[in-house]
Amino acid sequence: MAKVVILSGAGISAESGISTFRDSGGLWEEYDISVVCNYDSLDKNEDITIEFYDKRRAEIEDKEPNYAHRVIKELKDKYKADIAVITQNVDNLFEKAGMSAEDVIHLHGFMPTVACRNEQCSEVYDIGYKALSSFNDGKCPECGTKLRPNIVFFGEAAPMYERLNAEIKKCEFFVVIGTSGNVIEVNSIAAFCDYSILNNLEQSSAIAERDFDKVIYDKASNAIETIAQDIHNFLEA
Ligand code: NAD
Repeated sequence: MAKVVILSGAGISAESGISTFRDSGGLWEEYDISVVCNYDSLDKNEDITIEFYDKRRAEIEDKEPNYAHRVIKELKDKYKADIAVITQNVDNLFEKAGMSAEDVIHLHGFMPTVACRNEQCSEVYDIGYKALSSFNDGKCPECGTKLRPNIVFFGEAAPMYERLNAEIKKCEFFVVIGTSGNVIEVNSIAAFCDYSILNNLEQSSAIAERDFDKVIYDKASNAIETIAQDIHNFLEA
């Protein structure tokens, strides 16, 4: 298990042009997130839910990783098993920066893939940036059940949280980048680790600074130099 855990959220991809929840800039305002991102969204509002994720998937095609994604890729290449890269993001910017699927733990799903809605099957298919219906008429090639966006909706189980919990148990150095802390409670993790860094653009009402050893309110692409240097110092000590 890794000694350093880097947990990112929507803020790390903001400079690449993908909107966060907070700074919606119109992107989410078109849709009510409780209509398209809830455990019952596919049963109650199937068409609009599929449409919403089709648009989000198409949107990430031309987005490029920024400096923060690239520095984290270099850190992971250099320190391999000593660093766990865990993200709440469903975009593929770490992968576009050159990281493999094994190198990044996606807690809330992965936009370029779709999954079978039959829980006994649960096959996952890579569809890139295409609309869900363009892949095998929106049906699972394995069992014929309808496919769904491979995204964890509010109220659904998030199996990858087991990986997060396992990594946190061994974590000594915890880094949080670009998350408001509304979905994952980061304070108790920071308090549990020997050293912790918080990087956001601004204060969040869901995060108490007192549990962090270092707090950087700046763009991730600016903060990442300091964060990388601290990780080097820690792992080379
Ligand atoms: P959030 O929108 O609730 O909070 C974003 C945080 O990022 C804020 O605290 C803000 O201060 C910070 N931030 C904004 N720009 C930044 C920058 N340039 N550098 C550093 N920090 C910056 O996001 P969340 O906490 O990740 O929770 C929202 C949920 O929605 C998560 O599950 C998230 O993955 C998902 N989501 C994902 C994407 C994506 O995949 N890119 C985009 C939007 C939402």
